[in-house]
Amino acid sequence: MQAEKNNALLLVVSAPSGAGKSTLCNRLVEKFPAMEYSVSCTTRAPRGGEKNREHYHFLSREEFDSKVARGEFLEHADVHGNLYGTLQSTVREALRQGRDLIMDIDVQGAAQIRSACAALPADDPLRRSFVDIFIAPPSMDELRRRLSDRATDSEETIEKRMRNAEKEMRERDAYAHLIINDQLDAALENLVQVIHAERKKRA
Ligand code: ADP
Ligand code: 5GP
Repeated sequence: MQAEKNNALLLVVSAPSGAGKSTLCNRLVEKFPAMEYSVSCTTRAPRGGEKNREHYHFLSREEFDSKVARGEFLEHADVHGNLYGTLQSTVREALRQGRDLIMDIDVQGAAQIRSACAALPADDPLRRSFVDIFIAPPSMDELRRRLSDRATDSEETIEKRMRNAEKEMRERDAYAHLIINDQLDAALENLVQVIHAERKKRA
């Protein structure tokens, strides 16, 4: 993967659903308008207000499977029974243009990119740009409260997300950075500090 400018950051952000990752990432993109949000592919149905190609590339299972077969994904995973994946082309294009990219992906996808990076030479643009961040809720009770208050999921889906959250929380030590999203402004400030520190390392 060749980059013309190689100080861009590939921010890989994971969190249990409901921890506030979308809220934080959206606030971050407002603060850093040059930062691009990576649009993933998924087989799940759009939620109210979600637009194709803006929030996700919404694909049928067959379309997703053929992209897997053609090797188009940098990573892909089954999350809560639906398939999600990041296209190689999305990441390659951002790196080529020297743009920062923020990826909201689950712990399985982050692990795939982490091990792919570890196998690359130290000066490879993908490896150089990779920064992984885990966002955790202050407690599991608060996570449940946020999922209920968000009112986008059925009780059954919330239970599934809570079970998955227990597993995801066990992966948090694999990430270079851990941010507890208790007070939103403080968590955003921590995230901004991580970005400044990572930029400084590469300057
Ligand atoms: P995720 O993208 O991780 O699934 P969301 O960003 O949708 O989570 O946040 C889940 C819910 O919690 C939303 O209703 C959001 O407004 C709320 N929320 C996010 N961060 C905080 C916070 N620091 N304190 C209280 N509520 C929060
Ligand atoms: P949601 O359906 O709520 O938008 O996302 C559910 C989960 O899928 C979240 O944990 C989110 O991080 C994850 N996810 C979204 N896009 C991708 C992706 O491209 N790859 C992987 N591995 N996970 C993703």
